[in-house]
Amino acid sequence: MTDLAGKTVLVLGGSRGIGAAIVRRFVAGGAKVSFTYSGSEAAALAIAAETGAEAIKTDSADRDALVATVAGAGALDVIVINAGIALMGDPLTLDPDAVDRMIDINVRAPYHAAVEAARKMNDGGRIIVIGSVNGDRIPFPGVTAYTMTKSAMQGMVRGLARDFGPRGITVNVIQPGPTDSDMNPADGPMADLMHTTMAIKRHARADEIAEYAAYLAGPHAAMITGALQTIDGGFGA
Ligand code: NDP
Repeated sequence: MTDLAGKTVLVLGGSRGIGAAIVRRFVAGGAKVSFTYSGSEAAALAIAAETGAEAIKTDSADRDALVATVAGAGALDVIVINAGIALMGDPLTLDPDAVDRMIDINVRAPYHAAVEAARKMNDGGRIIVIGSVNGDRIPFPGVTAYTMTKSAMQGMVRGLARDFGPRGITVNVIQPGPTDSDMNPADGPMADLMHTTMAIKRHARADEIAEYAAYLAGPHAAMITGALQTIDGGFGA
């Protein structure tokens, strides 16, 4: 597989789950990959050892550190903004500080990282954000603040696509549905309920999301921009 040969790629949040699958897929495609992590040092070092990608400890909630890491990555061809957390529960009882931290990681960080990446990004570059189908549809209670953060990504990619389009840079949001990971295990307590809303009644594998990201980063996707890339087994249908 050489579809990403010669590309310089930064993945935010590559230590586990979907981000780790993206690191693996991009390395397999021939890219030079670095990735960030925050809390999962052992997992990050294991992915680095397995793939040869560079692991960089950077908390997305720390704007100065995040911007420094993105700037330090130099002229990127691709940034994949995957790092995210999901805080769920009754909005009347959720800890407001925890909600604000989620907004920092899921909204403020993607914006500042995308803008910083674009400063030095090569023409024809790719900005890929991992949002969620919940940005379109939320059939259950208790997910309001998370959904709000993912809907924000829709507006962000539409706007940045206009801002950076003249340089041939595309900006898209991948919107997974339920995907097997620590955040949302395929055998978790909510799995059966989620599957009732899906046309294909199973969690996606992280490598299926990674394949979509590789396509968007690859040579055939230059005209796809400002768009919602939903891969959800029909969750939102
Ligand atoms: P996981 O919890 O399995 O992994 C999250 C990843 O993000 C880890 O690598 C984690 O690194 C990193 N991360 C989290 N917070 C920070 C932070 N503050 N700074 C840097 N890195 C951070 O989640 P998933 O793989 O399931 O989710 C990845 C993305 O996909 C998220 O944006 C999520 O919202 C989205 N998504 C997931 C779905 C699902 O069903 N799984 C469905 C739709 C969207 P570390 O542990 O090192 O901090």
